[in-house]
Parts: sequence; C-alpha cells; structure tokens
Amino acid sequence: MERKNIWEFYSDEQLAEIETFTKNYRDFLDNGKTERECVDTTVNIIEAAGFRELPKLINEGAKLKPGDKVYHVLMNKMLIMFIIGEDKLKKGMNILGSHIDSPRLDIKQNPLYEEEGIAYLDTHYYGGVKKYQWVTIPLALHGVMVKKDGTTVEINIGEEESDPVFFISDLLPHLAAEQMEKKANKFIEGEALDIVVGNKPILIKTPDSLANDDSTESEAAKNAVKKGILEILKQSYDIEEEDFISAELEVVPAGKAREAGFDKSMILAYGQDDRVCSFAGLTALLEAKNLTRTACLIFSDKEEIGSVGATGMHSRFFENTVAELMNLTGDYSELNLRRVLSSSYMLSTDVGAAYDPFYKSSFEKRNTAILSGGVLFKKFTGARGKSGSNDANAEYIGYIRKLMEEAEIRFQTAELGKVDVGGGGTIAYILAGYGMNVIDSGVPVLNMHAPWEATSKADIFEAKRAYAAFLTGLGL
Ligand code: MN
Ligand code: MN
Repeated sequence: MERKNIWEFYSDEQLAEIETFTKNYRDFLDNGKTERECVDTTVNIIEAAGFRELPKLINEGAKLKPGDKVYHVLMNKMLIMFIIGEDKLKKGMNILGSHIDSPRLDIKQNPLYEEEGIAYLDTHYYGGVKKYQWVTIPLALHGVMVKKDGTTVEINIGEEESDPVFFISDLLPHLAAEQMEKKANKFIEGEALDIVVGNKPILIKTPDSLANDDSTESEAAKNAVKKGILEILKQSYDIEEEDFISAELEVVPAGKAREAGFDKSMILAYGQDDRVCSFAGLTALLEAKNLTRTACLIFSDKEEIGSVGATGMHSRFFENTVAELMNLTGDYSELNLRRVLSSSYMLSTDVGAAYDPFYKSSFEKRNTAILSGGVLFKKFTGARGKSGSNDANAEYIGYIRKLMEEAEIRFQTAELGKVDVGGGGTIAYILAGYGMNVIDSGVPVLNMHAPWEATSKADIFEAKRAYAAFLTGLGL
C-alpha cells in the first residue's frame, strides 16, 4: 500500500473549507492552552449549540429524547458530551475519545524563591518532555489559585503583546564544554527547569540613607526581589504566598498557534497532542445530523501521566455519566448499562508520530504515518511486543474500513515507530476493558511533545471527516 500526499485530491471548495476549519482550530488552541481553559472554551461552544448540562437535567427530572444534546463536566478538567440517537441507548453508542492535557511544567506548591537577586518559581514537569527543549523560550503562566475563602483567581500571563513572559535560563556556549559532554537526558535536569519571574528588589535606598543605616538595609534587601513579586501578586490578584498551596498553575510556551511553511500547509502550535483530535471530534459532533446511534465525545484529562485520578480515563466518571444519561432516557438498569458499554464502538482519537526523514532509523517506513498522508488508524500501540496495548479486532477494523471507504476518507495505517525503539499508549485499552470495540485513530504529528508541535492542515481536516463518518455508523 502506497502512502500518498493527499493535498492533490481536494477541490477548490474543500481547500477553502480547510482554511476556515483550521482557522477555527487555531482559535480553539489559543483559547485553551490548559485542560481547564479547553473545557471552558468547549462549554461555551456547545452551549451555544444547544447542549445542556447533565446535573441541571437531573434536577429538572428531564426526559431525554432523540436529538437532545447533553454534557457533563468533572472538576473543570474532564468533559463528556452526548447527542441522543434514534436507536435505544442500550444498543450502544459511537464514542470519540480524546485527551485535553498536554506535556508542560507545573508550578510546585511552595514555589517562590530568590537566589542572587533573581526570583524563581519552582516547577515539576508533567508528562513526557525532552527537558532541553524548554529552556530560553518565552513561557506563559496559566491556571488557577484558590484562596482560603474559596474564591478562585484565574491566572493567564504571557499571551498578550503587553504581557510579560517568563523563561528558563541556560548556560552560554562559551562555558558549556562540560555540559555539552552530558547525555541529553542529563543535559538539563528536572530541578533546573525553574522559571525566572523577577529581578527588581522592592526597596531601593538612596546612597544617603545607606550611609546612615547599614544594618536595616541589609535586612530589608534580603529576598527583596521575592518580596517585590509578592507585592505585585497582592496588588494585581489579592494573592498571598500561601495561596500557591491551593493552586494549579501550568507553564506553557507563550504565543499563538501559527501557520507553517511558505505554502501555509501546516500548523505549528503548543498542545496539539491531543487537542487536535479533540477539535476534529468536536467539529464532527457539532456537524452531525439525524444520528441513529447515540454519539458521545470524551475529553479526558491526565492521559499524559497514565489516565489516573478523578479526571483521568481510569476514573468511574464516564461510567457514572452514562448511567445518569440512561436514567434520563428511561433505559437505566445495571444490566442495561453493561450492555450499552459493551456494545458501543469507539475511536480512541489521539495523535501519532509522523515519519521524520531526519530520523529514519526510528521508523519503519511502510507502517508509519506520513505528514499529509491522511487520518491514521493504529491497530495497536504499546511497547516491547505490543505490551500495554489495545489490539483492535480485525472484524471491527473491517467495519471501520467500510465506513471510511463509503465516505471517501483518505486514511493510512500506522504504528508508533520501529519495533523495540520505544512505544506509548492512549486511552484505548481502558474503554476496551468494557468489552467494547476500540481502535486508535488520529492525526500524525512532527516533533510530538515538543513545546511547538507540527501537523498538516489536510490531516486535521481528514480526521474531522473520518470522525463524522464514524458517528453516523450503524454498527456491525
Ligand atoms: Mn496523546
Ligand atoms: Mn502524548
């Protein structure tokens, strides 16, 4: 099977559609650089499209019917959406599941310190990062700080032209002979990823006052830069140092998603793993009409650290939400819930590695996705002999192939890389645990997990078309 660059297949109309669609995608990325922001952005979009929040519907004792649109949020970080289909829910759903967390640096709970007149915030990296990629680039701070009285202060610094940015320092090449001898994973250590946040002391005394009062000056000068930062936080946000204890602050690359290449064929942006599949799925869901099977879209959190915790895919939130939904359609029983879950179909919509000609030895060309080769399908992921993988059933793949061919979707099959070179996983195996048919499907990414990741506009568009076709599927 030959892999082809799919750009040549598009009509002028489709090419125009790709531009509009990917402009919306860039806005989606810019408005949601953390899982919380992504949930907020998405809820705004779906509420405008007529989706209603599940707890409100439960309170009203609503009866759901085909065509009704429902969503449910957990802890502002995980989001599940449904459009009720014509068929009885217990026949199963068509599920698109992506994740909205991305690799980044998280601020620690006791982070602010000063050394030699430079103030820092201490970080703990989140997910798989090549640490050396994060030094010396402009960084932004996003997140929330929750005060003792329960009020939440939203932080978003570094994205506006007039905002300051933050950065992590690195050693100049003139003095880096020893550093350059180190292996890349030791080159920049995890504890060296603290961001620089200030350099101006709060008190600058005149020479006269210094001459009069030496001891007081040295005491006042101690941590004066840190004190200055705390003063700014107090004035701007009414925040105390202790409020970092109950904060979730994320350090992400500063700046907007950009078009890339002379031909503007690509998108270069932070957090495309996996908000690219989230956006493709969201658009497919919003465009869906006359659904036979109930459509479900999952935006999960914590995928990059193993899908753990309340908002990770391993939590009971999804199952509980489906149970509540069934209760409102009049279908709920414990047995019916099991039936819905086991007879659902899922695309685990997550990105894959695009073939990189500069790193040929890490890929096996015939079974790797190429950039602009179309939406990818991965039968399995995992590492060392498929370990940790969901290995999709051949019959299910046959069904997916038929759907894709009928809708004229340009797709390619893929593995993550060469056998035994490495590996990875997605949320696929977790849902498959219900006895559900699941396969991985996503967009190829160059420099995945880097501060700036690259995708092809054509692949994103094709993913959206594939997900739309999948949602209309009638089942095996
Ligand atoms: Mn991913
Ligand atoms: Mn990832």
